[in-house]
Amino acid sequence: RLELLDLTLAYGPIDVVKNVDFTVAPGTTTCVIGPSGSGKSTLLRGLNRLHEPKSGDVLLETESTLTVKPDELRRRIGLVFQHFNLFPDHTALENVALSLRHVKKMSSAQAKELAHRRLAEVGLAERSDHRPRDLSGGQQQRVAIARALAMEPEVMLFDEVTSALDPELVKGVLNLMADLGKRGMTMVVVTHEMNFARRVADQVVFMDEGRVVEAGPPAELFDNPQSPRLQRFLSEVL
Ligand code: ATP
Ligand code: MG
Repeated sequence: RLELLDLTLAYGPIDVVKNVDFTVAPGTTTCVIGPSGSGKSTLLRGLNRLHEPKSGDVLLETESTLTVKPDELRRRIGLVFQHFNLFPDHTALENVALSLRHVKKMSSAQAKELAHRRLAEVGLAERSDHRPRDLSGGQQQRVAIARALAMEPEVMLFDEVTSALDPELVKGVLNLMADLGKRGMTMVVVTHEMNFARRVADQVVFMDEGRVVEAGPPAELFDNPQSPRLQRFLSEVL
């Protein structure tokens, strides 16, 4: 469970996320949509304090994230980006295992064994000895997701993880996220994939100019948008 309380995030003097309030219930998926520059990435980074809040708070369960050590917080709230940031000179297995050794202080053997399992879960058991450049973009993204999942996070954040992928690779990554949701992961997904949001989200949050303009179940937002700004946005992207 994540609870955003009047969260404001700024670059210097400029607020780019303004007084945002919403709750992500345990085991649910919230999709955040909105135009470019509306503050979606900044919002995600604020949730695990890659970006320090200017004011307001984010509760993880009932605990203020402001009181959790940043390293611990980033283990408990995983974030996967558009660009997967894998280590280029290490195999898929090593990419996952290295994090386990560093963050979870596992032995090499333990880390490898668990990394294998995590890669198998994202459908990459056969590819574990490949380096990133010998994997497709979709496979690289799945390695990045496996690496984040290996930390056993309580919440997963995804920022446009399919937007750099070739169209034929998008589906596999979206299906993986949908499966995670079905298995009860608590997730916040920033996406341009409106069909994914409609199909998978329990809650959709529409942001514009740093504010939440509308939030609710996908059927309500997509089929019956209330605000002119959401109506215009949907007419442009659907
Ligand atoms: P997109 O859909 O294009 O990814 P977004 O909704 O993720 O956009 P953000 O990246 O969160 O938007 O940016 C929100 C606002 O903050 C924008 O006006 C952007 O120009 C500004 N911004 C982003 N990064 C910085 C930075 N490092 N310094 C100053 N301003 C920034
Ligand atoms: Mg962004």
